[in-house]
Amino acid sequence: AGMRVAVVGAGVSGLTATKCCLDEGLEPTCFEQSQDIGGLWRYTEHIEAGRPSLYPSVISNTSKEMSAFSDFPYPEDFPVFLPNARLLDYLRRYAEHFGLREHIKFETTVVSIRKHPDFATTGQWNVVTDTHGKQMSHVFDAVMVCSGNFSEPSLPLHSFPGIERFRGQYFHSRQYKHPDVFQGKRVLVVGMGNSGVDIAVEASRVAAKVTICTGRGAWLLSRVFDHGYPWDMVYNTRLASLIRNYLPGPLSWKFINYKVNQRFNHENYGLQPEKSCLVREPVLNDDLPSYILTGRIIIKPGVKEFKDNSVVFHNCPEEEPIDIVVFCTGYDVSFPFLEESVVKVENKHASLYKYVFPTHLQRHTLAVLGLIKPLGALMPLTEMQARWVTRVFKGRKAKGSSPGYQNVVQTSCPSTKMFGLTFDEVLKTEWLLYMDTLASFIGAKPSVLRLLCRDPWLALTIFFGPCSPYQYRLRGPGHWEGARQAILSQWDRTLKPTRTRVPAGSSSS
Ligand code: NAP
Repeated sequence: AGMRVAVVGAGVSGLTATKCCLDEGLEPTCFEQSQDIGGLWRYTEHIEAGRPSLYPSVISNTSKEMSAFSDFPYPEDFPVFLPNARLLDYLRRYAEHFGLREHIKFETTVVSIRKHPDFATTGQWNVVTDTHGKQMSHVFDAVMVCSGNFSEPSLPLHSFPGIERFRGQYFHSRQYKHPDVFQGKRVLVVGMGNSGVDIAVEASRVAAKVTICTGRGAWLLSRVFDHGYPWDMVYNTRLASLIRNYLPGPLSWKFINYKVNQRFNHENYGLQPEKSCLVREPVLNDDLPSYILTGRIIIKPGVKEFKDNSVVFHNCPEEEPIDIVVFCTGYDVSFPFLEESVVKVENKHASLYKYVFPTHLQRHTLAVLGLIKPLGALMPLTEMQARWVTRVFKGRKAKGSSPGYQNVVQTSCPSTKMFGLTFDEVLKTEWLLYMDTLASFIGAKPSVLRLLCRDPWLALTIFFGPCSPYQYRLRGPGHWEGARQAILSQWDRTLKPTRTRVPAGSSSS
């Protein structure tokens, strides 16, 4: 019989994990606690415990060509950045196309995953699930943890002195759905991540006043990037990545500093990040600069203390009256079904090789997917993790010097250290380099030089153009016939939804 793999969760990572298992001839069983696929991207008006919760206006902040699974491009009429419902639609098509649903057990929660008594020899796991109160115990040869990390809000009230006496309303961004709660109110948004800025922008359309307070500041990028192209199709090219990585450190930071301040000077807008955290996650928002300029949103430093009806900021003498506070303070990572001896999350760090394999298990039959999010799209990244992991599970020694099943972690473990799960840490890992590294493990990294002779046009497109995920399907296991064509037509699919009016007589009609 084939190798049986338990996949925990049917969101982005779980779906692609299931698909990659099938590709490798493994037998996946995907457990999903809710009644449908889509994870984070399945919007529900009602907030469900243990599930992520979106606000209806969430739009993906990576473009469709860069966010596609590598053998399944988005339909050309989909918008370039995807409202959550379109993204879910895409995931449904993916599940349909690759026949994933029949491998998913819905309304089934994974309660615990423990090493099988024979773990040292078989690498097997005991998995206990719960379906409508009925518990079942299974044995699996391997486990892929795809349970996501946006279910558990982080609300560090202890960092906000006086919050207990504050008489206004406050809640975590996870509770936020619609802006009507802010009607006519004086609103404070705490934390300048993507949630904070999105919510502040929406609130400012109906509120009396909106203030964002940020301890650290943030780089603000725009989805609409140089020359109006999607930011990630310009940022994540092989050429740009090469420049970023081979410029000496200080010069590279100067370059980034120059680049991000080109549209507007972050200092003049009160946004400049603290020196100590130049590498914090950028915020992607097209509206904020103009909303600051028009006075609809005010930026303030971190909160010093709350009073009955107001707040005091660091380095600001006067207090500001506030009616509602939204804590956009992010999420905690946890794996309630795993023992700490398998994956221990401490201060937002865990010991995972390449952010995937726990470093200290005797057998590498458990992998965590989608925990990291460098500056680039998550979908192709978790897919790449799944392709690598399923090969490792199968014991396939991948080509070249890349790690196979036995030596995957041993060889790299001497330097066992805690790998960051926090965004800021992970940013130090380039999206493209990470993709290339995992791709080289399985022999799917494109070779620009080799292509240069055989297919020069393709080689140039790969090097100078966006590093779209199809590049990782040109060769190796999982090689896809359509990859070349998908790469050469990536700009067509990008421009199609916006070039909807071509003037008469235009040459490019
Ligand atoms: P986040 O990015 O983790 O940001 C949380 C912010 O809260 C921090 O940057 C910090 O802001 C503040 N904070 C955290 N702990 C604090 C403490 N103890 N005291 C004071 N401030 C504290 O959270 P998020 O904005 O909810 O985003 C979560 C993830 O979802 C991110 O990866 C984000 O990109 C993603 N997201 C995507 C979209 C989209 O695609 N459109 C929308 C929303 C979220 P300061 O340093 O500024 O104070």
